[in-house]
Order: sequence, then C-alpha cells, then structure tokens
Amino acid sequence: MKNDFPLFKTNPDLVYLDSAATSQKPQIVIDAVSDFYIKKYANIQRGIYDLSQNATEMVENTREKIADFIGAKDASEIIFTSGTTESLNMVAFCWAKKFLKKGDIIVLTEMEHHANIVPWHQVKKEIDVELKFLPLTKDYRLDYQVLDSQLRENDKKRLKLISFTHTSNVLGIINPLDEMIPYFKKLNPEVKICIDAAQSVPHMPIDVSSLDCDFLAFSSHKMLGPSGVGVLYAKKELLEAMDPFLFGGMMIKKVTKEDATWAAIPDKFEGGTQNLEGVIGLGAAIDYLQKIGFKNMQKNEKELIRYAREMFENKKNVTIFGPQSENERIGVFSFAIGTIHPHDTAEILNRLHIAVRTGHHCAQPLMEVLGVVGTARASLYLYNTKEDIDRLSDGIDEVKKVFNI
Ligand code: PMP
Repeated sequence: MKNDFPLFKTNPDLVYLDSAATSQKPQIVIDAVSDFYIKKYANIQRGIYDLSQNATEMVENTREKIADFIGAKDASEIIFTSGTTESLNMVAFCWAKKFLKKGDIIVLTEMEHHANIVPWHQVKKEIDVELKFLPLTKDYRLDYQVLDSQLRENDKKRLKLISFTHTSNVLGIINPLDEMIPYFKKLNPEVKICIDAAQSVPHMPIDVSSLDCDFLAFSSHKMLGPSGVGVLYAKKELLEAMDPFLFGGMMIKKVTKEDATWAAIPDKFEGGTQNLEGVIGLGAAIDYLQKIGFKNMQKNEKELIRYAREMFENKKNVTIFGPQSENERIGVFSFAIGTIHPHDTAEILNRLHIAVRTGHHCAQPLMEVLGVVGTARASLYLYNTKEDIDRLSDGIDEVKKVFNI
C-alpha cells in the first residue's frame, strides 16, 4: 500500500513510525481535496447556485457516510469538529456543564490523553464534580471492576459520566468496550459513556449502536484524512438537549437584536464556515479504508505486530510498555532502551531516517504511573512493512552501540 502514499515516493528512505500522532495521506485523499478546490469549491448551504448546492450535497453525503461507517442511526448525530480534542471539549462544555451538578462523579482512567483529562478539570473547577481515575493493573489493563468496591450504593447514583479511551496512544491496548460499557451501565443505568476513539477508529470497525455508547470522538488526520477536522458522535436526544458553545452564523434559527434561537442538529453545533475540504477528504479516506477492508487491514496489522514484538523481545535491555498479545493491542509500541533518554533514542533514529515519537505523548499522568519521564514510541499503520521493522531493529542496535549498552 506504500505506493498509494506519495510522501513515501518523495521520501524513499523514510521509515515512518509515527502514525499514532498523524497518518500519511493516500493519493485518493489528496485528489479529493484538490479536485474540490479546482472544480467544485463553494461555501455550503448559503448559495442557491449549483456550485454551492453541490458542495452542500458533498458535505452532507460525507456526514451520512460517516454515520454508516460507525453505525450511527442518523446522520444528524454526526457533528463536524476540528478533531478529537474539540469533540471531547464539546461533551464537557455543552453536556456536562449543563447537566451535571456539585458532587456528581465523572470517571476517567490513568491511561487518558490530556484531551480527555483537562476538559474535565475545567468542569470540576466550575461545578465541583468529583473526578475518579480507574487504575491500571500490572499488565497494563484497566482495573475497571474496582468501582464495585469503591462506590457505595449512594455513590452509584452520583456516577454520571465515564469518559475513557478505547485504545491507548501510549500502550496500544484495546480496552474491551463490549465488557466495560454493560458493566458501567449496570452500576447506574443513567450513566453516560463517552469514548475517545482517536486511536481506534483508524484501526478497527466500530458500531456505536451495538456498543450503546453516548458520545464518541475521533480525528480525521489519524485515519488517512486531512487534519483540522474531526467528529463528535452523540445520541440524538443528547444533542437535542445540549446547548451549543460556538455562536454565530449557520447555527441559528432566528436572530433578533436581543437574542437568538438555535437551528436543529447537527447545524446547532456547527457555527461558522466548516472545514469543507477536510470533510470531503475524510470521506475519501473512509472510501479508501473500506476498499481495503478492516478484515484485511487487521490481518496484516496483527502479523506486523507479532513481527515487531518478537524484534523488541529479542533485544536485551529493551522494555515495551503495553500488552503482548496482538489480539489486545494495535501497533503502538512505547519502548525504553535501558536508561537512555527517549529523546536521545529518537535523535539517533532520526539520523537513520526513522521517525518515531518521543516524550510524554500528552499522557503525563500515565507516565507517572509507569514511572518514566517519557518513552520512545513506534506506531504502525497499514503502509508499514516488515522492512520498516527491520530498519527499526538496526536503529535500536545503533542506539545501544552509541551508548555502549
Ligand atoms: N486522544 C487520543 C487517545 C489521542 O491519541 C489523541 C491524539 N494524539 C487525541 C485524543 C487528540 O486528538 P487531536 O489532536 O486530533 O484532537
């Protein structure tokens, strides 16, 4: 599949292992965006001329495509945002601040990205909710059943929201939503479930209706689409009850000098001009993913994960943070080489044209739990090959040689 990605043609020596940060783009996505600019560009909804009506249709068709892609019942449950971060902020500002009250409990986990922690800090500051963090077991799983012993009957009634990641951007672990969501709903049938799916939607099929989650957030740029566009899925009745947090054109029904009323969903949450080319590029990315098919993708990815894991395991003084089995993880490998600082590792790998991420990966509370300042992280996607892993293997040997370990 590398041939479908022009960046690899212009950078033939590059080993790109940073897809958890952002993915590269296939030609079909680049073409969809440039074709829109060259032949079809106009603002949506505002014009009665053909170009504008066609652009509106393209954006609304993409909304329907995304609804189908994640199993949403209605296209109006798909809100375009700038990315996962904005989507999660919308849940905090448009839902939690309106419907939660002092003393209510929000449960997060120790493996969250800052995008799923910091918005909740703000909710806590404003309305004094209680934040609880699900701990990790020694083998990097979420110890979610701890809630049974932590929450007394009275506390269960205060449990209003559980917001957690489907797949960790550091550990690669896939949390078992099909076990966790029913468990949480049994604790309190009223509890709302918000899933950070930034790292899972690019890798696996998701069906929000059968999962019965209330909110789901993801970003286009991690799933082959353009950056600056993302999605918030929420159940229709929740979106209808929530207030918008971006006010201006397009999201209104009627404006007077004194006040305004809101348009129906999804428009109510899409004030201003949207990232039209981003949405259209995301539609093309979904076409590409569907053409390949998640079954094929996952088969290849699992084989590559096994290959990478064996490579890591065969190296002395190299630790991976995350589960072993390819059935429990995606191809995100956070690793440490002895006590070498991850920045040094990444710097030496960079000299060999191997792009890995280094640092805390926007998950400082998780770094604290792991007892490290940061990690180096190699993350795989559908264009990676065994040769890429072999190059990483040689790179790790070179780092060890430089540091003499
Ligand atoms: N959650 C997770 C698990 C992520 O990996 C990321 C991106 N690193 C985000 C949220 C934030 O996504 P974005 O920067 O696209 O808003």
